[in-house]
Amino acid sequence: MCNEMSLIFDAISTNEGFARMAVAAFITYLNPTIEEIADVKTAVSEAVTNCIIHGYENRGGKIYIHAVIENGVLALEIKDKGVGIEDVEKAMEPLYTSKPQLERSGMGFSFMEAFMDELEVESTPAKGTCVKMKKKLALGDWIVMED
Ligand code: ATP
Ligand code: MG
Repeated sequence: MCNEMSLIFDAISTNEGFARMAVAAFITYLNPTIEEIADVKTAVSEAVTNCIIHGYENRGGKIYIHAVIENGVLALEIKDKGVGIEDVEKAMEPLYTSKPQLERSGMGFSFMEAFMDELEVESTPAKGTCVKMKKKLALGDWIVMED
């Protein structure tokens, strides 16, 4: 059984809190632990912030979130149609940032990797970036959805 949701919203910093609360609300029925909720919120915040400040360079645009829960596993896609990344491998290195002048620490991808079970980044320069993450949430006692 599969549960799915999509969100499209403006890439402005005030929507970062909305995005992480929305994803947290979406997973609540699985009875996640406080720690699991915090992990997912952090990962969403990091990915959404990257869309806003890097993808769209603070000029605005749309951010697309697609979330699927299947067999207790959350699969998240967070996407922008911004500038994209030339070298994804380098961008994902801990402490790498292209914006040190903005006092970025270059730890966003490292946090996503640490707090989620899987992280994959697909990006095309001038087309945009899609961050795919997975996290197992339910430890066996899934709530069965009735339809
Ligand atoms: P921090 O997240 O610690 O504030 P940061 O955003 O620079 O710093 P990461 O989140 O790890 O660090 O991202 C590393 C680099 O990858 C960024 O500096 C940027 O160059 C690139 N990047 C990340 N996400 C995107 C995106 N959505 N679009 C374009 N470039 C991106
Ligand atoms: Mg970042």
